Amino acid sequence: MELTGIRFIDDLDLEPETPVFIRTDFNVPLSDDGEVDDDFRIRAAIPTIEHAVQKDCRVILASHLGRPGGERDPDLSMEPVGEALTELMDIEVVLPEDLTGHPVQRLVSNLKPGNQVMLLENLRFDPGEKGANKEFAEGLAELADLYVNDAFGAMHRKHASVYTMAQFFDRDEKAAGRLVKSELEHLGDLLDEPKRPFTAIMGGAKVSDKLGVMERLSKKVDRILVGGAMAYTFLKADGERVGDSMVEEDYVAQAGRILDTATSRGVDIVLPLDHVVAPGFDAVEADVQTTEGPGIPDGNMGLDIGPRTVEAYSEAIRESRTVFWNGPMGVFEKDLFARGTLEIARTLALAPCHSVVGGGDSASAVRKAEVTDAIDHVSTGGGAALQVVEGKALPGVDALRANHPFDD
Ligand code: AMP
Repeated sequence: MELTGIRFIDDLDLEPETPVFIRTDFNVPLSDDGEVDDDFRIRAAIPTIEHAVQKDCRVILASHLGRPGGERDPDLSMEPVGEALTELMDIEVVLPEDLTGHPVQRLVSNLKPGNQVMLLENLRFDPGEKGANKEFAEGLAELADLYVNDAFGAMHRKHASVYTMAQFFDRDEKAAGRLVKSELEHLGDLLDEPKRPFTAIMGGAKVSDKLGVMERLSKKVDRILVGGAMAYTFLKADGERVGDSMVEEDYVAQAGRILDTATSRGVDIVLPLDHVVAPGFDAVEADVQTTEGPGIPDGNMGLDIGPRTVEAYSEAIRESRTVFWNGPMGVFEKDLFARGTLEIARTLALAPCHSVVGGGDSASAVRKAEVTDAIDHVSTGGGAALQVVEGKALPGVDALRANHPFDD
């Protein structure tokens, strides 16, 4: 990842009282009673926020949360995030009703630097956020003199607060935050002469989203271990019986081509050797079986990798010097199908390799296995992390590099 041409928050001249807009990624899971269920992303944003608070700036924080669809939705208010921030940072959080306009501007000028921060409501309450609307972006830009983007998990999106807004700031008035810096460095390192063997572990359900990534990754890695539902599209392409497992039929042919190309390039795409299967997601323990081989009997769905696969994949991980993991090995949200994912997390934590995990689900699996500290880098981003590992540019980074106004 090309880091030249962008500034980082530590390069900005943060004078006391300066209004600084920090785009954060507070898109966190909420519990049924509306509290923050996992504060990983909030904690990750704190170094940048704290830096601006310590410089006595007027700090305006803004993020999206879930998918309110461009309308106010009280269930997706930023209020619980504000409460978590108060607790984590011991600071008062001001939560205005409006996202832009004079009343919010007045509140910004009344903020008590060092003691208070402002947290705007969910940016996606306004359709202009996802629509990359110029007027909305300008309204946000009018709140501050400096713009900092620390929302790594959203930087692959061309949305108003991530992309469009940055054009209202000159290059010396905008910067990436500390989290973005750390993410770009760690993920960029994977592309920059990684130690070999370099293994990618790919899992999760959305084959359609991940085939392109796999195609590009297969040019950079030595082998790809495939798990999760996406394995079934590959197994089907390989002529295996997949029973009622989740298969994206439209992508079977492409999966087959990826297998062929990888083989001709000498890259191993490794598919599961056995599976934990059941008639459906809601199966009880008595219905769960482990297959003997890679085929799945009719009337069953593959819901986790089996013990022989765990062993083979673990061996491959232990032999690797660099490992990138994206996507769970099974339906790890359910204890009956979590073993494969948790075992892979534990093996990765113990392996003597450079380990990087990207993607919301794999990151939460690493936390569930309680091995976060033993992984070299757990990314806060899913799509954004994949895009960096593929060597593709991020719109949010390009926007920091560009002088204003942008072309589009
Ligand atoms: P993704 O967003 O593509 O990374 O997919 C993550 C989701 O894939 C998780 O919610 C898992 O429960 C789901 N998943 C993983 N393995 C399977 C499987 N074998 N069958 C159905 N869903 C799965």
